[in-house]
Amino acid sequence: MKTYTASKMADALALVKRDLGSDAVILHTRAYKRGGVLGIGAKSVVEITATDDPGASAKRKRVQHRRAPERQPAGPPLQPRSAPDPSAGDLIRRTYAVAQHELAKKQAAAVASNPPPPVPPSPAQAAQPPTPMAAAIPVDQQQLVEEMRTVKRMVREMADQQRRREMVRPKNQKSRGRPDIPDKLFDQYLCLLEQEVAEELAEEVVQQVQDTLNPIELEDESAVRRAALEVIARQIPADGGAGQLQPTDDRRPRTIALVGPTGVGKTTTIAKLAATFKLKQKKNVGLITMDTYRIAAVDQLRTYAHIIGIPLHVVASAHELAGAVRLCAGCDVVLLDTAGRGQRDDPHLEELRTLLGAAKPHEVHLVLSSTCSQSVLMEVVDRFSVVGFDKLIFTKLDEAVSFGVLLNVARKVNKRLSYVTTGQEVPHHIEPGRSERLAALVLGEGARAC
Ligand code: GDP
Repeated sequence: MKTYTASKMADALALVKRDLGSDAVILHTRAYKRGGVLGIGAKSVVEITATDDPGASAKRKRVQHRRAPERQPAGPPLQPRSAPDPSAGDLIRRTYAVAQHELAKKQAAAVASNPPPPVPPSPAQAAQPPTPMAAAIPVDQQQLVEEMRTVKRMVREMADQQRRREMVRPKNQKSRGRPDIPDKLFDQYLCLLEQEVAEELAEEVVQQVQDTLNPIELEDESAVRRAALEVIARQIPADGGAGQLQPTDDRRPRTIALVGPTGVGKTTTIAKLAATFKLKQKKNVGLITMDTYRIAAVDQLRTYAHIIGIPLHVVASAHELAGAVRLCAGCDVVLLDTAGRGQRDDPHLEELRTLLGAAKPHEVHLVLSSTCSQSVLMEVVDRFSVVGFDKLIFTKLDEAVSFGVLLNVARKVNKRLSYVTTGQEVPHHIEPGRSERLAALVLGEGARAC
């Protein structure tokens, strides 16, 4: 085990690689300031402790390493304290961030001191489509970009090896004694992490695939992918099918309410559902909106109702809502649009719950936008549990940043996915919720309607 220090992460990693080779295992990294007086003139130091001992990852758990707090004050390092080992993913992200920061600094300094004249691209460069980064920076900075790519590749290689060694071994008989995660499966695992699938969930998927396939299948990329798809799909509860209406047992029309924060696409989704039921399934549709807070929303829905050829009831109180529901008694299905509530708006959430009490919907679907982060989605889920809901709709799949987040949320919430929407067009961009479809998205297939 050796410790390397340098002023930059990239330099320290280069030292590690030169000395221990690319099989080196990073045991820990830290950054701190050294020297100076009362913080003035202190120099940044990056420290990497690494080893070329292949069995180190097992011991690694026992190494009490020192890691500096996020903001280390100038001066000697603080009293050592134990901290959890950084995960391989953390290492990649951190190192890449440091390298990127270095590059940005060098670029800014170079541009400030000497703005370079435009240089025509060499024939080799002209033949290649520029990467966004390469296109944005002067040619004499290409070397830096290359350096950064090398650092990224190197860290990834090291982290991959480290992670491989650390992966939890499957516990059943079949896989016992297998030395490593097969390459194809490991690629799938990294792909899941890149899609922001939670680490425990990604590991679970890998284990289940490994337990399902035989060694020959595990070397076959498409077999691994198929198995991963099936395992992921099993994690996503969904209505599936063709989005047909289920009969009710209380002789009322099936009453469906959509709830969720403002702007997630409730009104648009209601219009898509109304059109699907009326025009494709030839059902008698009742449409009620409680979204009287936004004139535009009522107008928008009225226009859709007019085009589809169904009446729209606009209600502002529980009393009016009960009346509108009675007027729709002869319909096959009644769709309720509700006003968006901020997830922190407790009084309004309570009011919404009371309003829904007057309509007694058979189904309440919580509408979540795929453009939100996992923490926002989970906060919305948490707050709307006051209102109560039994299904989930993911909207804006066409704009989703990461499908892994949707998988994490669907699994945590454990309510059936009823529909997904994939664009702004009414009525086309809506599909019934299907586990395999979302699983395929998590594994990197496009979001537009199939
Ligand atoms: P509400 O406030 O929840 O009722 O949201 P709206 O139905 O008014 O939709 C807000 C915005 O999201 C509008 O501009 C819609 O066109 C847009 N929108 C709705 N569904 C989708 C979708 O699936 N994809 C995309 N890209 N935009 C959507």
